[in-house]
Amino acid sequence: MDIHEYQAKEILSGFGVPVPRGGLAYSPEQAAYRAREIGGSQWVVKAQVHTGGRGKAGGVKFCNDDHEVHDAASELFGKRLVTHQTGPEGKVVYRVFVEGTVPIERELYLGLVLDRKTERIMVVASAAGGMEIEEIAETEPDTIIRSVIEPAVGIQAFQAREIAFGLGIEPAQVQQVAETIIGCYRAFRDLDATMVEINPLVITSEGSVMALDAKMNFDDNAMFRRPNISELRDKSQEDPRESQAADRGLSYVGLDGNIGCIVNGAGLAMATMDMIKQSGGEPANFLDIGGGATPERVAKAFRLVMSDKNVEAILVNIFAGINRCDWVAEGVIKALEENPVNVPLVVRLAGTNVEEGRKILAQSGLPIIRAATLSEAAERIVAAWQNDLKHNVKLVNAT
Ligand code: GDP
Ligand code: MN
Repeated sequence: MDIHEYQAKEILSGFGVPVPRGGLAYSPEQAAYRAREIGGSQWVVKAQVHTGGRGKAGGVKFCNDDHEVHDAASELFGKRLVTHQTGPEGKVVYRVFVEGTVPIERELYLGLVLDRKTERIMVVASAAGGMEIEEIAETEPDTIIRSVIEPAVGIQAFQAREIAFGLGIEPAQVQQVAETIIGCYRAFRDLDATMVEINPLVITSEGSVMALDAKMNFDDNAMFRRPNISELRDKSQEDPRESQAADRGLSYVGLDGNIGCIVNGAGLAMATMDMIKQSGGEPANFLDIGGGATPERVAKAFRLVMSDKNVEAILVNIFAGINRCDWVAEGVIKALEENPVNVPLVVRLAGTNVEEGRKILAQSGLPIIRAATLSEAAERIVAAWQNDLKHNVKLVNAT
């Protein structure tokens, strides 16, 4: 789960990470008011959207009086910010964060990630701040410092100082940088984060250390025990298809093609998508019904996939172990009886109770194309989709 910059800053500041004075605004008037409240003579108005690269996309605006703050905010509200991370659909700005600017002497990069290889939290730091870490890795890989934290003892003060020295920090600021690193580590560990990133972490011309940007990501599977974090969730920043599925306990991944996929298990989902592509189609999404799915759950999954307007064909591919093919068949029929669909549908069932499942489908009298193997299923859905497309084009031309 992602959170906004202002939320990450509030959390991190509670762990001793210094951040500029700032205030959140939901309207241009409020933004101007925040600027007056903060004081000073220059402010930065920052779009609060779940993506990096906002600066380059026009989501970070510098202002010299409260009128400019008002206008910058009014330009941002409702805007669809498209960055290199969002995809073409972008993310809509509903909140802005106003901060007093600080004079920058040096920009650093500080990140904490889960390193899967060592199974440890790893601090990644670089003296080349301001750029994305991928860009630093490409252009200045030698500046990157990696330090793995021993979980039994946590981060040690000497270790944090060592990172600071590695970044070439002046002795006067080493302690502040070390405390910032330790604060980030504690926030990461105590709150079940999966990522903390401060880019840039700056040394100001007055010699203080400050996090000008902050990003945090949390482990979805731990959110049940972090109510204070999970309430920071902002659904306006998520793919509505994915959040609707998550609210129903299903896992859904939205993609850009036209064939909707209902499967069980992530591995089967990957294989199914590969086969669809191999047969010349493009998946619109995949929805994982999980194990032991009841007919109701399958019907729900079906409705969710159908609600995606990109879907022009549906492939149900179930390899039932814990699942039951008869329940899947019943679920599909239940969904079709409630809401008849006018797109081609291929169902491939294998495993537990497969005979019963096939019988239920056959006896339903519904226009369901059946397939015995995965490759057959993929070929049939792509062929049916292409055929349907031709047919529809003819209809349009005829009228
Ligand atoms: P991002 O583009 O989404 O990563 O957004 P950032 O919060 O990192 O802002 C982009 C850039 O704006 C930063 O890298 C800084 O160079 C600059 N910036 C942000 N806040 C300040 C500030 O208070 N003072 C100055 N001088 N620059 C700032
Ligand atoms: Mn940044």
